[in-house]
Amino acid sequence: MAVDRLLPTDEARDLIQLTRDIADKVLAPIVDEHEKAETYPEGVFATLGEAGLLSLPYPQEWGGGGQPYEVYLQVLEEIAACWAAVAVAVSVHSLACHPLMAFGTEEQKQQWLPEMLSGTTIGAYSLSEPQAGSDAAALACKATAVDGGYRVDGAKAWITHGGIADFYNLFARTGEGSKGISCFLVPKATEGLSFGRPEQKMGLHAVPTTSAHYDDAFVPTERRIGVEGQGLQIAFSALDSGRLGIAAVAVGLAQAALDEAVAYARERTAFGRRIIDHQGLGFLLADMAAAVDSARATYLDAARRRDAGLPYSRNASVAKLVATDAAMKVTTDAVQVLGGYGYTRDFRVERYMREAKITQIFEGTNQIQRLVIGRHLAG
Ligand SMILES: Cc1cc2nc3c(=O)[nH]c(=O)nc-3n(C[C@H](O)[C@H](O)[C@H](O)COP(=O)(O)OP(=O)(O)OC[C@H]3O[C@@H](n4cnc5c(N)ncnc54)[C@H](O)[C@@H]3O)c2cc1C
Repeated sequence: MAVDRLLPTDEARDLIQLTRDIADKVLAPIVDEHEKAETYPEGVFATLGEAGLLSLPYPQEWGGGGQPYEVYLQVLEEIAACWAAVAVAVSVHSLACHPLMAFGTEEQKQQWLPEMLSGTTIGAYSLSEPQAGSDAAALACKATAVDGGYRVDGAKAWITHGGIADFYNLFARTGEGSKGISCFLVPKATEGLSFGRPEQKMGLHAVPTTSAHYDDAFVPTERRIGVEGQGLQIAFSALDSGRLGIAAVAVGLAQAALDEAVAYARERTAFGRRIIDHQGLGFLLADMAAAVDSARATYLDAARRRDAGLPYSRNASVAKLVATDAAMKVTTDAVQVLGGYGYTRDFRVERYMREAKITQIFEGTNQIQRLVIGRHLAG
């Protein structure tokens, strides 16, 4: 059932309709096949790029869609309701464009931003390492200054779109401590850069997650974004926006699970009546609907603060925490509504439940979101 959205403009309404059309005609017919076979959907990102859906929140002067964040997030939610792996990759691409947009020089933007925002080149974000996930400041991958640039050595982990994306936000150590990290924009074809084989994941099977290995890879100085030592500030600034993307993906998943559960509960009968008419199950569905609506309201509130130029870091962490916990609960309850059938791969709720789990983990686990919120409260 299509969500009845309150959108700010006619243009936003058209964008939602366009997204629904693409989801119905391009994504829905192939999602099950790719998720089961764990194959990458070639061509899907070109379609999304041509439709202008890969750069919605970025300024039009650089080739972006010039849309408020609240609109971009609702588009993302619509994609996620159909195919979470694709929505996550779209969100990560947007995340990967942020450092250049917010911290790049005019020259750097002119050189790379238009092709990134048009979707001609797809981006990935590589902050995590095998030994440093939540504690990003402990990262060890090293960028040693040499004539004309840096020599990079070390390993990065868990890169969404790894090995497929055309450019990589690399966060590497150029000095000591948390102020000794710098940000680079590294093209895939860099000599000395290689990728591990895709991780065997619980969900999001159609988009690979890989490690990356830098072996004496040369990155020229003009590919450093911001000043030396500014890397962690850039990484966290991008994550504030990215977390809202993950919150929207989580709501899309939860909405899809709710819709499937309601449709099933209206059809299935037990003890002589539709299972939705048993109050015990009707209340479960009502709680699921309340969780979805409130999670959406929470991310929209954070997005509107961002659109208004207000501080929104705490609100982004609240949105990520609330929306992803809601998605985990709602998708699990959807499996319950379908009974034994919910536990099989014949129904999509099984996939939604597996996919919801990762939203509580990446772009800062929900323990880390609590840490961020707690620090704001502590002043
Ligand atoms: C499918 C997938 C895609 C990903 N995509 C990307 C990507 O594109 N780019 C990228 O850079 N990374 C990516 N990640 C990495 C992801 O962001 C990390 O896995 C996540 O940040 C957690 O880090 P970790 O796995 O090292 O866990 P750890 O940091 O080792 O944490 C383990 C547990 O300890 C808890 N914990 C840690 N510190 C604290 C604390 N201070 N207080 C309370 N609890 C704490 C955590 O919440 C967690 O429950 C991805 C991961 C996955 C699985």
